[in-house]
Amino acid sequence: MSRPVDVVVVGAGLAGLAAARQLTTAGMAVTVLESTDRIGGRAAGDHHDGFRLDHGSHVLNPSFPELDHSLDLERLELRPLSPEVLVHQHGRRHRIGVAAHARSALTAVRAPIGAPWDKARLGAALSRLAATPVEQLLGRPERTAAEALALRGIPARTIDSFLRPLLAALLSDPHLASSSRVADLVLRGYARGGLSLPAGGIGAVPAQLAEALPAGTVRLGVRVTSVSADGVDTERHGRMPCRAVVVAADARSAGELLPGLHQPGHHPVTTYYHVAGVSPLAAPQLLLDADRGGSLVAHTLVLSEVDRSYAPGGGALICSTVLGRPHFGPDGPAALEPQVRRRLGRLYGVDPSRWEFLTVRHVPDALPAMVPPHHFRRPVRVLHGLYVCGDHRDTSTVQGALLSGRRAAGAVLRDLGVPFAAGAEQAA
Ligand SMILES: Cc1cc2nc3c(=O)[nH]c(=O)nc-3n(C[C@H](O)[C@H](O)[C@H](O)COP(=O)(O)OP(=O)(O)OC[C@H]3O[C@@H](n4cnc5c(N)ncnc54)[C@H](O)[C@@H]3O)c2cc1C
Repeated sequence: MSRPVDVVVVGAGLAGLAAARQLTTAGMAVTVLESTDRIGGRAAGDHHDGFRLDHGSHVLNPSFPELDHSLDLERLELRPLSPEVLVHQHGRRHRIGVAAHARSALTAVRAPIGAPWDKARLGAALSRLAATPVEQLLGRPERTAAEALALRGIPARTIDSFLRPLLAALLSDPHLASSSRVADLVLRGYARGGLSLPAGGIGAVPAQLAEALPAGTVRLGVRVTSVSADGVDTERHGRMPCRAVVVAADARSAGELLPGLHQPGHHPVTTYYHVAGVSPLAAPQLLLDADRGGSLVAHTLVLSEVDRSYAPGGGALICSTVLGRPHFGPDGPAALEPQVRRRLGRLYGVDPSRWEFLTVRHVPDALPAMVPPHHFRRPVRVLHGLYVCGDHRDTSTVQGALLSGRRAAGAVLRDLGVPFAAGAEQAA
């Protein structure tokens, strides 16, 4: 292969790009090798019949600290979702969540969900969570999110009509088997900063990271087949020697390159995309399905209400998420589309028969499961010269992927004796 490099990064997902950016900023010559034909990994942007699609429904929580650290959020032009979500339960819809005007004060919650007592308690609980320092949350006893909710004295109807569907959506975990500490952090983030999407879709995040790299740093279509501390072997491009290798692949691929690496379970995510002539909900508002049992859809959002660029030619682009492992049958996830569409008709309260079914995206290993005890900072240094990062080392989020990449870069620079910014030192 061509010019000698200091560091080879395997994978151009968020973690790999974040690591590469940190390393090139410190003056390292870096090559990022990506097996597919595009950057972004699971956060890649996509187009289909003139519509902009994310690789499965994504939302960003702008209050997550690594976003501010690794990205120029202003240039991403974040489009906020409505601060309150809509919840559909027992044939009715209600708005619930942290009202925009209350977020800065972290005091109030709008929650027409029953007795005023419920509202007060939910408001107080969310406000407390929002104001609780992260270290304190991480010091709480850890159990599953479902167990923690039941133990905190929150009324069952508040859990069922708000917390359970919201957390299932934010964690892509329908059974809330995730760590209660992760759930607390995610809920805290929601209460503090709400949810957003970049103007250009989630793909704008890896695009911004890649933009900051010297031209030619990322090489697409190069699959790495083995790694060692002094180089990588590739499927069709020979060996590339270097001073350090950062494996920034998804958990399964990283495990193939680094046998013995911790392998988490995964949550699958299936996203159905529909196009409607008229938007079924004239607001950028997440609609949660709180009816348990029988309903496939976990949540749905009219993407074109968040940003017009999702449907540049007109019409409304609706993305709807099915969590877990439904039985698709031999025809795959498209076979369930009629059922999904029927449910969407009920959720939005419209007749969806004229909607166009655009496509469906099924990602079997969408998010590494974060069951208790969850290790928030798995080591990123395998040995001198060999490092690993990716959301499976931190948390299964954009935040976790970015932070793990920065931590790995910090470890490389420290081993190579290269001075680097204090932020990376702390993160490592
Ligand atoms: C449907 C879906 C919805 C999500 N929703 C949200 C959300 O709302 N909010 C949120 O914060 N997060 C969400 N996530 C999670 C988030 O997208 C991921 O945590 C993050 O993108 C992971 O980045 P990564 O760099 O760790 O891994 P990846 O994105 O998996 O990147 C790894 C890269 O390595 C490449 N690679 C693998 N093996 C090799 C090899 N041998 N040689 C060369 N290249 C290789 C892969 O092709 C890939 O590009 C969602 C994920 C999915 C799939």
